Amino acid sequence: MPRLSEVTAALAALWPASLAEGWDAVGTVAGDPDAQVGRVLFAVDPVQEIVDEAVKLGADLLITHHPLYLRGTTTVAASTFKGRVVHTLIKNDIALHVAHTNADKADPGVSDALAGALGLRVVRPLVPDPADPAGRRGLGRICELDHPVTLRELAGTAADRLPATAQGIRVAGDLDATIRTVAVSGGSGDSLFDDVRAAGVDAFLTADLRHHPVSEAREHSSLALLDAAHWATEWPWCELAASQLEQISDREGWGLRVHVSRTPTDPWTAHAASNSPLTTFGAPN
Ligand SMILES: [Zn+2]
Repeated sequence: MPRLSEVTAALAALWPASLAEGWDAVGTVAGDPDAQVGRVLFAVDPVQEIVDEAVKLGADLLITHHPLYLRGTTTVAASTFKGRVVHTLIKNDIALHVAHTNADKADPGVSDALAGALGLRVVRPLVPDPADPAGRRGLGRICELDHPVTLRELAGTAADRLPATAQGIRVAGDLDATIRTVAVSGGSGDSLFDDVRAAGVDAFLTADLRHHPVSEAREHSSLALLDAAHWATEWPWCELAASQLEQISDREGWGLRVHVSRTPTDPWTAHAASNSPLTTFGAPN
């Protein structure tokens, strides 16, 4: 069995910390570098339910996309929910490692996994990393469809292929519009509207879109928008990342058991549909 330090060195090669945004907190959050790792669990969120799942599974390492602590803390008392997570991890000899914006920008990264889940062919990053001469790293991905679909069909595909959530897929645009190119970005994509408009794509699929940016984008252009649950857009990365770690384990002869949590940690848990059917949402007539 490899030591934690050997596994995290391999993870650092997949998702170099240097790719992370300056405000981010990536890397090992808890764990003894000399501890042995046999079983690994991937998940989006380091919440108590996921840590309890790691305990039940007998995992030695939990790898999450979202950081546990982003802004620092002065306490890990178990009276706070994050402190309880830390206590549960340490009491059960489970390490926690985070790959966040470094996994977003990596090649392959979070948006490659999202595009893959939707069956979209990635052409290039939406916001290329200027430090990558190959032009493959960066935020978001621009994708082409081998066969054009309607916005209605694209929304249906997203609803079918992304993990189920209370929200489902919100759509802005003419449902009968033809979609040939799509920008995708796992997680909150609000800040990428200028890049999406500059890319001239037919549709943008992301999460956490707010009223004003969406309204302005719709007034400016015919850009169609698809808004999925944040968790659902990032979960496909867990499967991609798990397969990457399994390949490394096979190559190194580590014999790791690698699992992906299927527990939904989208904080929204219910949805009351309005009386209007989907077909009337945003349709011109
Ligand atoms: Zn996220």
